[in-house]
Amino acid sequence: MSHRHFFFFPLMAHGHMIPTLDMAKLVASRGVKATIITTPLNESVFSNSIQRSKQVGIEIDIRLIKFQAVENGLPEGCERLDLIPSDDLLNNFSTATTMMQEPFEQLLQECRPNCLVSDMFLPWTADSADKFNIPRLVFHGTSYFALCVADSIRHYTPFKNVSSDSETFAVPNLPNQIKLTRTQLSPFDRIEEEESMSPVIKALRDSGLKGHGIVFNSFYELEPDYAEHYTKVLGRKTWAIGPLSLCNRDSDDKAERGKKSSIDKHECMKWLDSKKSSSVVYICFGSVAIFTATQMRELAMGIEASGQEFIWVVRIELDNEDWLPEGFEERIKEKGLIIRGWAPQLLILDHKAVGAFVTHCGWNSTLEGISAGVPVVTWPVFGEQFFNEKLVTEVLRTGVGVGSVQWKRIASEGVKREAISKAIKQVMESEEAEGFRNRAEEYKEMARQAVEEGGSSYSGLTSLLQDISTYSSTSN
Ligand code: UDP
Repeated sequence: MSHRHFFFFPLMAHGHMIPTLDMAKLVASRGVKATIITTPLNESVFSNSIQRSKQVGIEIDIRLIKFQAVENGLPEGCERLDLIPSDDLLNNFSTATTMMQEPFEQLLQECRPNCLVSDMFLPWTADSADKFNIPRLVFHGTSYFALCVADSIRHYTPFKNVSSDSETFAVPNLPNQIKLTRTQLSPFDRIEEEESMSPVIKALRDSGLKGHGIVFNSFYELEPDYAEHYTKVLGRKTWAIGPLSLCNRDSDDKAERGKKSSIDKHECMKWLDSKKSSSVVYICFGSVAIFTATQMRELAMGIEASGQEFIWVVRIELDNEDWLPEGFEERIKEKGLIIRGWAPQLLILDHKAVGAFVTHCGWNSTLEGISAGVPVVTWPVFGEQFFNEKLVTEVLRTGVGVGSVQWKRIASEGVKREAISKAIKQVMESEEAEGFRNRAEEYKEMARQAVEEGGSSYSGLTSLLQDISTYSSTSN
């Protein structure tokens, strides 16, 4: 077939590259040629997995574009979101991505793919696709729910109606009653007037709306009201094809996503094998959120006070161990496993010993927890994490929050050990625990069915591929 080449261009951040790689694998497994576009430093995020796919007959190509970090005032090799040393340099990063446009268009010219799936954070790729008459699908990497909430907030600006940052307001015109405070909104959600929106933010928002359609790493049964709302009320063309992580069936693929894990997978599984069913709390906050030493200490005390067994992933770039309370490691030796660096998250979540997931509510982690049937303790930090928290705690009701209310890339204060310990106990051993577990188990089943042949996400991908085929044959 001629209409069979997809380009995938994710933002250079683990939370975007990991699901995009899964998407490329899925599309390639349906006999479509898939090419991933990234920068030299990020090749290693994909290469081992691409190699493994090749061994089972799934071919994925990768094409690299030089990233002009130094030319844009960034440190050498700063080619990924988590490597940006301070938030002041976010704009430089964004400018450096726009400089990829010319070489990217040369690639489009050379390969003439039939479809481009690119990140919402690369809005200029929409113009490139237009130039070559290639349908562009946007990938936001989040839930329908979060996009519906963000849309309502922008449209109705309900945060203007409260007199203080901590007073709650209802988000209008949604299938459920959702309440938030101003402190939980990002600066981009709090723009009062269209005119005061910066050109960069406006370009991001607009490019998310135009184009051929939107691909979601979600599944219909998880958030049917919001999928309907987003598609029908807001009038957008979408395909839900997730949970994407479920395409990883091989244990090496589950163990190494984005980075090589810092612990040997056998060692990690052995530790979990020695624990009772649903007895371990898994704590991990993704690839970008930063916790200060003070907040880490508080968390350590909270975990200890909960009395539960745990795996705690500490993505610490600090070389001192200031964050550890005095004697902590010695005391928790029997109960806890601290992974310094990168964890084999999918393998851990899938293990039957895991009974709860303390998460920052990044969408990938949230959905991975759902796909594994694990109840959650939510601790949102920034991005759209506060919205995802509402989905799991109030709509799906598979867990509770620790009471994080301050949108900030660096979690520096505010959540106390008592609240942490209370939330963990509530999910692990309170009267409500069984309800959380049962509901989580139901969503796990639904997630698995969605990606099986005949399931909603499987059919979603079929219909997306057909749509692109039709587009290509009628426009050539
Ligand atoms: N992840 C992992 N090991 C880690 C930390 C993160 O495999 O130690 C993976 C996780 O499974 C998820 C992704 O990295 O797929 C993080 O994406 P998410 O949207 O949850 O958060 P972000 O990093 O974008 O804040």
